Amino acid sequence: MRAYNFSAGPAILPIDVLEEVQSELVDYQNTGMSIMEMSHRGKEYSEIHEETISNIKELLNIPEGYSVLFMTGGASSQFALAPMNLLCNDEIADYTNSGAWSKKAIKEAKLIGDVNVIADCADEIPTRVPSIDECNFTSNASYIHLTSNETISGAQWKIFPENTAPLVADMSSDFLSKPLDISNFGLIYAGAQKNLGPAGVTLVIIKDELADKCPKHIPTIFRYKTYIENNSLFNTVPTFPVYVLCLVTRWMKKIGGITEIQNINENKANKLYKAIDSSDFYVGTAVKEYRSTMNVTWRIKNQELESSFLEEASQHNLKTLKGHRSVGGIRASIYNAFPESGVDALIAFMKDFESKNG
Ligand SMILES: *Cc1c(COP(=O)(O)O)cnc(C)c1O
Repeated sequence: MRAYNFSAGPAILPIDVLEEVQSELVDYQNTGMSIMEMSHRGKEYSEIHEETISNIKELLNIPEGYSVLFMTGGASSQFALAPMNLLCNDEIADYTNSGAWSKKAIKEAKLIGDVNVIADCADEIPTRVPSIDECNFTSNASYIHLTSNETISGAQWKIFPENTAPLVADMSSDFLSKPLDISNFGLIYAGAQKNLGPAGVTLVIIKDELADKCPKHIPTIFRYKTYIENNSLFNTVPTFPVYVLCLVTRWMKKIGGITEIQNINENKANKLYKAIDSSDFYVGTAVKEYRSTMNVTWRIKNQELESSFLEEASQHNLKTLKGHRSVGGIRASIYNAFPESGVDALIAFMKDFESKNG
């Protein structure tokens, strides 16, 4: 039996995708080989590589002048690579601090160059991200970094700053969950394992001209330009994760594309927030206007009941609902692939738990 898996990452994948992977795992399209056993420059993998890029471009309506890259090392590597490539000697980068992941990005950027933290609400409870109004933008900043969705706190940017320095966004936990105006961004990065596929590939969208400013001393493998010029095939690309990602993007197109996916995601999240708000027993963790559609976080007012909530939920096949170890509480990660029936099952369980313990 499949579990309702609320894990924050690595996270649930569409069952259709897993079954397709299974069916062609040992013999990919009558080649007698698994896709993971094939050259990253061969015909079969090349087709997957190109299709994945083209599906992502289509899903997000990515304009000319941008590249889709497959990198490795997760978003954590991008925390360092973004400033290494984009923050030159005499420049300042603006960072917003909205929580645990922003803090890590800021720490790495400070190792590379000058950083101005232009808004900081990282330690506030209820949790949130900064409003655009409170950001104290530096004039001539080399870029502005934000974490579009704070996976741990459950707070999400709903509108992004416009007409500023190039926006750099860590979208690890909400990339491809809703439409985006890509032309508003300079660089977007996301580890695949939250909303897109298995761990091992990092998605990057970059405005090509930004990659030109990389300082000369940065080694070849750490330059975005290298990935752009070599179509992410400078070295061996993580072929199997890209293959699964390809199937996920096909699945996204099949269910109606990014607008339909946004509708489904908002419907799931609204239901769950409504269940939290309609009770005096549960209390949401994030400020309402910044609530994440991907990671729904809440507490039980009587926090002593949380461990039995989690244990009983697990017995009802509602798995991995525990909040991040740094903050506790309850977190339901309901990414694209998470089925609505699982949200309904969770809500029914919450009502039942409340009536027995409230
Ligand atoms: C999970 C996560 C990361 C870290 O990703 P890795 O791929 O493990 O490096 C960074 N940022 C956000 C917002 C995340 O959710």
